[in-house]
Amino acid sequence: MTDRPVRVRFAPSPTGYLHIGSARSALFNWLYARHSDGKFILRIEDTDQKRLVEDALDDFAAGLRWLGCQWDEGPEVGGDYGPYFQSQRLSVYRQWADWLVEHGHAYRCYCSEERLGRVREEQTAAKEQTGYDRHCRYLTPEQRAQHEATGDPYVIRLAVEPLDGSTTFHDAIRGAITFEHSLLQDAVLLKSDGWPTYHLAAVVDDHFMQISHIMRSDEWLSSAPLGVLLYQAFGWEQPVWAHLPVILNPNGKGKMSKRHAVGADGKSIPVLLKDYIADGYLPEAMANFLANVGWNLDGSTEVFTPEQAIAAFDISAINPSPAAFPYDKLVWLNGVYIRQLDDDDLYQRLLPFVARGAGLSVEAMAGRPELRPAVPLIKERIKTLAEAAPMLDYFFVDGLLAYPDPQALIGEKMSTAQTVEALHGSAAALASLANFDKDSIEACLRAQAEMLGLKIRQLLHVVRVALTGAKVSPPLFATIVSLGRERALARLAAAAKAVE
Ligand code: GLU
Ligand code: ZN
Repeated sequence: MTDRPVRVRFAPSPTGYLHIGSARSALFNWLYARHSDGKFILRIEDTDQKRLVEDALDDFAAGLRWLGCQWDEGPEVGGDYGPYFQSQRLSVYRQWADWLVEHGHAYRCYCSEERLGRVREEQTAAKEQTGYDRHCRYLTPEQRAQHEATGDPYVIRLAVEPLDGSTTFHDAIRGAITFEHSLLQDAVLLKSDGWPTYHLAAVVDDHFMQISHIMRSDEWLSSAPLGVLLYQAFGWEQPVWAHLPVILNPNGKGKMSKRHAVGADGKSIPVLLKDYIADGYLPEAMANFLANVGWNLDGSTEVFTPEQAIAAFDISAINPSPAAFPYDKLVWLNGVYIRQLDDDDLYQRLLPFVARGAGLSVEAMAGRPELRPAVPLIKERIKTLAEAAPMLDYFFVDGLLAYPDPQALIGEKMSTAQTVEALHGSAAALASLANFDKDSIEACLRAQAEMLGLKIRQLLHVVRVALTGAKVSPPLFATIVSLGRERALARLAAAAKAVE
């Protein structure tokens, strides 16, 4: 282990938007930094200039802040160990690549693409392991001088040493990991255009940014041996290594991929954090949920605060086994958090979602009187903020609704004629009510059902679809009150016309 001050990092490549699995890695690093009174650093690994996505950085920054994982050093906030963009550190990588060459831990390789291709073909034909054959590692000083004299382009490769035997390092989640040197490649550290590869850039940065713990996704486990050897070659203190468990699809089949994931029911679920945000998940629910993927508070508590998680978080308690992404739990947890919000808070959070659904601006929606009273009516029924929009659409249509499928108005085991009769009957009864309040409306519709020989459920279905256009809605009697008598009567009449 280490007694250095804790400095951990999240080091995304801006080649795509923030993936839900990467958000989990970021959260774990943040939790550990806060737990240890340490620092959480955001570093942008933008060495693959061809695959840059222009607004990826904005997406990471917005996503991390949304989740509550504010970084202490990095883009936008600065810090003493910058720059925090790898593209701005090229001279540092060059300097340390040259240092390795001077000290015999790396060498210049002048091989052309053609030669490397030929070697690969020969190895394939001979059914050998493919890879670089270390040709340039053993050039004579004269051969080297000749390449230099002609100005041949070169890459810098790590000289894996020794070529046999093995090295063991400790992973704080997985324990001892041993790798055979014979299986390692003399990997490229610096490309001929002067840009570093991941291996070199990450190690140099982690060292100079004084990163104490490298906690990252399991997919990087296969790069860890090269990292360990590089630290050794430089003579730098090893960080604590920790590789987080793989996240599987909710259906348990295969790793959750960068592009899509499959839910327990076989349907695809979002993989990008921004899509979860757009679907109306609450940040507090998402943070709580992600903390539960591969770690848990005490083995049984599922709903907890960030403060509780910070106090209890421990790298050695992370479960190394692959974990299925429990999507259904997220949906459930989000409902729990929604119900914990007070109505005013929930109202504020719903505004943009309902505005979008109704085609209004957020300001216009804030000026409409119907939404706030509807909040307690739907609070128990929604699991995401986005679900509220279709439940409330009908409020924001001023006049009549369109019934694209008039058949949907017809009640269970009811004929067209009975449905029309129910609509007209309800309208007449509601028209004559002295008090247009919830209890009177309920009593009136119950009496109406009895008179028509219908079950109350049958009648309410017809009235609900006529007034809201949907089979599910907030509690109906309160909805009728908020809708107002005039709009309710007009819609019942229009619905009758639509079925006839
Ligand atoms: N840039 C790497 C990525 O995109 C970071 C890997 C690491 O954390 O070392 O995931
Ligand atoms: Zn070579």
